[in-house]
Amino acid sequence: MPDQSRVAIVTGAARGIGAATAARLAADGLTVAVVDLDENTARATVDDIVAAGGQALAIGADVSDRAQVQAAVDRIATELGPPTVLVNNAGVLRDNLLFKMTDADWDTVMSVHLRGAFLFTQAAQKHMVDQRWGRIINLSSTSALGNRGQVNYAAAKAGLQGFTKTLAIELGQFGITANAVAPGFIATDMTAATAARIGMDFEEFQKHVAAEIPVRRIGRPEDIAHTISFLASDGASFVSGQVIYVAGGPRD
Ligand code: NAP
Repeated sequence: MPDQSRVAIVTGAARGIGAATAARLAADGLTVAVVDLDENTARATVDDIVAAGGQALAIGADVSDRAQVQAAVDRIATELGPPTVLVNNAGVLRDNLLFKMTDADWDTVMSVHLRGAFLFTQAAQKHMVDQRWGRIINLSSTSALGNRGQVNYAAAKAGLQGFTKTLAIELGQFGITANAVAPGFIATDMTAATAARIGMDFEEFQKHVAAEIPVRRIGRPEDIAHTISFLASDGASFVSGQVIYVAGGPRD
């Protein structure tokens, strides 16, 4: 199947890593469904893709809501064609030390990262199985290895690694691969919010973090988009069930 006919879904693609990934997959020749909570914010990513000569559609959906996820996947299949690339990227932080973490902090992070990836994958896999071809890419994190103040997020991101490996085992026979990308520090609104939470200027925070990274720079959304582009490609058909740390150094 030529790349031109493929349809990709990127969740949480209004900004940050998701927006860069949507732009990269569109530049690779895929038609991209840009999913985010608010269709209007997703539209900015779509406008950039279309201005660059690509094809994309903005979809508003909460990844943690089964009915909204099914409606989104149905609309994508009808308007764009069967989605065979899925990037589960939508994410939130609710950082706090364990003794201060609320039930809501815990549940929100589990709902968006784990339930969201589960629901979108379950709805999209039907199309991938029908096509006997698919690529599922889940966003994990170096935080899966443990990170102070992120007991909820670390558990979710480690959970996504087990989820990914199991998808690879169950779906491989249908020509579907599943992999996780585990970014280190990437400059986005999410890491800007972390700097704000600990009371540091974002520029200073980035310099401080970069000094500890072997390649001596912080990551950019395009670094992650590049890895996802590889995993979504035909040539990556023998890479499955892997966790690729994209962190400027070894973190696993
Ligand atoms: P970001 O800039 O905060 O963007 C996340 C996007 O997800 C936002 O557009 C957000 O929408 C959307 N979103 C949140 N909850 C959603 C929901 N329930 N349904 C649909 N969309 C939802 O984050 P990022 O830094 O690009 O991170 C992207 C992914 O990479 C996340 O899974 C994150 O955990 C992971 N990651 C990031 C880093 C990093 O250093 N930045 C490192 C490791 C892993 P709203 O704007 O409307 O809230």
